[in-house]
Amino acid sequence: MGWFSRKKKPEHNKDTSVDIKKEAWKKCPQCGEIIWMKNLIDSEYTCPSCGYHFRLTFKEKIVLFTDQDSFTELFENIGCVDPLNFKDVQPYKKRIQRTQQKTGRKSAFVAGVAKITGIDVAIGFLNFEFMGGSLGSAEGEKISLLIEHAIENHLPLIIVSSSGGARMQESILSLMQMAKTSGMLGELGKTGLPYISVLLDPTTGGVSASFAMLGDINIAEPNALIGFAGPRVIQQTIKQDLPDGFQKSEFLVEHGMVDLIIKRKGFKEKLGKILDYLNGN
Ligand SMILES: [Zn+2]
Repeated sequence: MGWFSRKKKPEHNKDTSVDIKKEAWKKCPQCGEIIWMKNLIDSEYTCPSCGYHFRLTFKEKIVLFTDQDSFTELFENIGCVDPLNFKDVQPYKKRIQRTQQKTGRKSAFVAGVAKITGIDVAIGFLNFEFMGGSLGSAEGEKISLLIEHAIENHLPLIIVSSSGGARMQESILSLMQMAKTSGMLGELGKTGLPYISVLLDPTTGGVSASFAMLGDINIAEPNALIGFAGPRVIQQTIKQDLPDGFQKSEFLVEHGMVDLIIKRKGFKEKLGKILDYLNGN
């Protein structure tokens, strides 16, 4: 890795407020309850009547998972490229451009440093709102740089994933990011610094098959879909009925794939406790 010269002095990120003006009401997809946006925010984006965890945008994650105004973005100038000149129903270049305009982000992965209950961490978010949180070359590069940053600065690493998997428009270059990020996590492991992987709904495909499942501790949100291939594909392949709750957080904890489930309410405080514990306190 020879990217040290690209490192730039972090700028303070002020863009962390939750936008409540867009929608005043939201319907719970699980129980159908119509929830006033203010109540939804007060309950940290969980349904007050059934506990359903709404999917979070990047801005909401920053507010809920890190200490106020503590997040500073790193490597923000690394964005998606189109190395294969790929076209499906529309050219990949156009798809990148549109998504970048819509999200105001250059790639699906946002890396940075922050504090969690006062503890300094290297933290990254793979965001579903950017092309389904898919893993391409830019995302893999930023994840690797973040791991390197954690090693150099002796910081615990946290990656919060929500992703459909490797990005097909970059073909094998996307798949190579699985090996690259896993290799870098191996380097982190040698230092004894902890890596906590947080799995949000959904975390699937090449992301679940690489860095998202390699945490020293893998933490999931309640009822998140986590797996490699989708249930329908598996069912058609093995021609057997799948058990209830298959590929959901609770099922995965029971079967040893995920270490624990943490509800969103109080998530940050619990994460802080785990970091404290890993630090020998
Ligand atoms: Zn509900």
